[in-house]
Amino acid sequence: MKHYFIGMAAEYSSGEWLRHLFTFGRKKDCDTLTRTLNRRYGGETFLCKNGRSALTLALKAYFEPEDEILVNGFTCYAVYEAVKAAGLKPVFVDIDKKNLNFTSDTIEDAIVSRSKRAKGIIVQNTLGIPVDIKSIEKIAKEHDLFIIEDLAHCAGVKYKDGREAGTVGIATALSFGKDKSIDTVSGGAVIFRQEQKHGIKAPSKAPKPSDYLRAKFYPMFGALCRTLTYVGLGGAMMRLLVAIHFVEKSADNRLDITRRLNKFEAKRALKQINELRRSGESAIRDYCFVRDRQEVLKKLQRKGYYFGGLWYEKPVSPERYYNKVHFPEQDCPNAVYVSEHIINLPLYYTKRDLDPALKIIKPYLEKGEE
Ligand SMILES: *Cc1c(COP(=O)(O)O)cnc(C)c1O
Repeated sequence: MKHYFIGMAAEYSSGEWLRHLFTFGRKKDCDTLTRTLNRRYGGETFLCKNGRSALTLALKAYFEPEDEILVNGFTCYAVYEAVKAAGLKPVFVDIDKKNLNFTSDTIEDAIVSRSKRAKGIIVQNTLGIPVDIKSIEKIAKEHDLFIIEDLAHCAGVKYKDGREAGTVGIATALSFGKDKSIDTVSGGAVIFRQEQKHGIKAPSKAPKPSDYLRAKFYPMFGALCRTLTYVGLGGAMMRLLVAIHFVEKSADNRLDITRRLNKFEAKRALKQINELRRSGESAIRDYCFVRDRQEVLKKLQRKGYYFGGLWYEKPVSPERYYNKVHFPEQDCPNAVYVSEHIINLPLYYTKRDLDPALKIIKPYLEKGEE
């Protein structure tokens, strides 16, 4: 039986995990990455430990304590964490079922009914699907909201009017985490596109050795686990590695605005950013909505598809953090629907790899999706 992997560092093929292991960076690589991002996004760049730390710095630079920040109602816990860490209040805004992003209408709705002090809005272009930026800019202007762009899903994506994501708002945050559009296992960057209101210091502490090692060896451990699935031990091995903290689940990556990016990750990120320019890639995952998702996932697993985490199984994921968020389910019914029915897959799988999965999924597709 052929095996398929979602999670287990499946994006790191055989050559790739070796290259990751033997890439060593220098300060020069960080400087080159900084200059490249300065130029591409038109601002001043700080390299960070991860995306949520980058986003925290972006928010701290422009907002006052207690300001409310509008956040896509279908997102990652990292975003919530960043807003809270910056001392601000997240207000979740419902999404459009089709493109998984808030719209000018749902934003208007949230402002009128639930938000007294909305001062900012985080545009995330979920799964690499762009928002209708013109209408978002218009509503932001009407309500004096500053736009922050979160490129975790959408580095390289173009909006309909031809502008690149990350060149619209006052600040841009990138994540280089697992399965993001730029993936060096961990890392991030923030670009201040307007003068900061509050002088924010660049992260200056060296990365922790334990974080360096986890970033370095994750692709190799992934490859080991993928090999072990052939004898039925891959899942158990992965769980063991997580239990002894050799592997960290993405959502558990600690927010720390004082730590720098690993130098070797700067080198890896630079290479991927330069490639983005050439391919002009957009979406990072393909998705559909199904009935009885638990049953579908079970069937997929029996075929060897190991789903290492859907994006997203709760409106704010992962599930184990969901209760901390106090998500306003009654105000975001579309986000709730989508989180209960969505199945999505990274686009680095070939059609041949995916065909058996699509056969399993097809009978369960929600009406109107066949
Ligand atoms: C993953 C993610 C981030 C940041 O992730 P880090 O793990 O901190 O690098 C930010 N925004 C969104 C929408 C994400 O999915």
